[in-house]
Amino acid sequence: MSYLHASLLRKRTMLIVRSFTILLLSCIAFKLACCFSSSISSLKALPLVGHLEFEHVHHASKDFGNRYQLIPLAVLHPKSVSDIASTIRHIWMMGTHSQLTVAARGRGHSLQGQAQTRHGIVIHMESLHPQKLQVYSVDSPAPYVDVSGGELWINILHETLKYGLAPKSWTDYLHLTVGGTLSNAGISGQAFRHGPQISNVHQLEIVTGKGEILNCTKRQNSDLFNGVLGGLGQFGIITRARIALEPAPTMVKWIRVLYLDFAAFAKDQEQLISAQGHKFDYIEGFVIINRTGLLNSWRLSFTAEEPLEASQFKFDGRTLYCLELAKYLKQDNKDVINQEVKETLSELSYVTSTLFTTEVAYEAFLDRVHVSEVKLRSKGQWEVPHPWLNLLVPRSKINEFARGVFGNILTDTSNGPVIVYPVNKSKWDNQTSAVTPEEEVFYLVAILTSASPGSAGKDGVEEILRRNRRILEFSEEAGIGLKQYLPHYTTREEWRSHFGDKWGEFVRRKSRYDPLAILAPGHRIFQKAVSYS
Ligand code: FAD
Repeated sequence: MSYLHASLLRKRTMLIVRSFTILLLSCIAFKLACCFSSSISSLKALPLVGHLEFEHVHHASKDFGNRYQLIPLAVLHPKSVSDIASTIRHIWMMGTHSQLTVAARGRGHSLQGQAQTRHGIVIHMESLHPQKLQVYSVDSPAPYVDVSGGELWINILHETLKYGLAPKSWTDYLHLTVGGTLSNAGISGQAFRHGPQISNVHQLEIVTGKGEILNCTKRQNSDLFNGVLGGLGQFGIITRARIALEPAPTMVKWIRVLYLDFAAFAKDQEQLISAQGHKFDYIEGFVIINRTGLLNSWRLSFTAEEPLEASQFKFDGRTLYCLELAKYLKQDNKDVINQEVKETLSELSYVTSTLFTTEVAYEAFLDRVHVSEVKLRSKGQWEVPHPWLNLLVPRSKINEFARGVFGNILTDTSNGPVIVYPVNKSKWDNQTSAVTPEEEVFYLVAILTSASPGSAGKDGVEEILRRNRRILEFSEEAGIGLKQYLPHYTTREEWRSHFGDKWGEFVRRKSRYDPLAILAPGHRIFQKAVSYS
């Protein structure tokens, strides 16, 4: 009897709890629906030069990673900086009663939804052209260009080349925006010499999470300037940037040599980045695993210095390491440079028969990845999932990392390049938000695998993600001490550990410049506080 009674009581309690939960959820849903409709009408009333789009917003819910999809409420197409400031100020004034957040979107080349927001506002930064891209101090020793935060690096290259100038530091792919790469770091083969792109910026115009427009430099509003560089979009929207320029070469001597031994490859890379007077202008490298036809495909664009020996080079399926170098050429210094290059190469320990060279226009060299993009797009292979893993590995552990990862975990590199090259920490400004390993030299290891959509096999997303996890677990167990580049984490603890000593400063800057956590929610570092009362 008492058992029956207890069971009835339990059922009744469960019924009450369930009804209460349904009621609560309905209230929240109703409240949210009211919030949305009142948000939409108040946003529609904003006096903007550009416009807010509420209908066709799906394109803003996709990115290059092709794995995350958050549908926004609206997309802002700003025509002026004040469009961005008024929209953010409006949301800031709504306080915690609104759950609206704001994500700046460059070209959407993020990997895990970092430029997205669910039910928030995406700012299409490419619409922002407050003024023409302007080159200054052309004949001075320190020329620079003022650009919009939504400008593509390829456009900056085209415009500055008209003056015989170009930015000093690049990324491998130029169809990325200024705001997008400065929010991360912007690293390529020039970084050993000039530092990442964030080390080559003189001034920024920022719209904070309160809707203020602030100019900042190393001297003026320096806390915001430092915070925004490498700051993952957390403290403000970059609406304008002043970028350092240098005289541009006309042609580039582009060199590839092969190694059978990782330690010899890395030793030469390190020697080259530390060389007095820097013998090259660009130093990168990549790993070749299980790719037999590769050297034949190079013959289309590179010439072997020793064609006969090169054709007889047998690597029997072994893993190869390719050192990639470039030397900038000007019309009048070609012979001297060629002689210098020859001498420097003679000091390296690559397999002698594997020296491949070519000469290309500077612009073609910098825009080289775009050629692959065009090919991949034509085959429908550009818009596939990209479960990429980008790591910064301290120099003292790179050999151990290579043994464990290239020797055991990665079995082929046919679905995307694996790029490996060292940079000097001294060229990075430690006051910025960018996170790197502690050592003076560290390597960028970029495992840029494309997945086959819908495949459950070794080329499928799940399998590649599992492999990425194995790499991270191996590194953790081996105490490699790496940092993620273009970081992605799911918990606050992981973010805290990623930032390490910089976490306190990062949190302080967030509460100063974006106290309601309106900006860049796609990183999932901070969550906007919402009150439903
Ligand atoms: P998005 O992906 O749109 O945005 C990136 C982040 O920045 C988001 O959090 C966004 O909210 C924020 N953001 C965008 N604009 C602004 C702004 N104006 N103000 C504030 N925050 C903003 N990176 C390298 O460092 N080196 C490389 O060599 C390199 N090669 C690449 C090659 C390819 C093919 C691809 C797809 C990416 C490569 N990247 C490289 C990564 C690139 O730096 C990132 O994808 C970066 O996100 C830039 O892309 P985006 O301009 O499309 O920005």
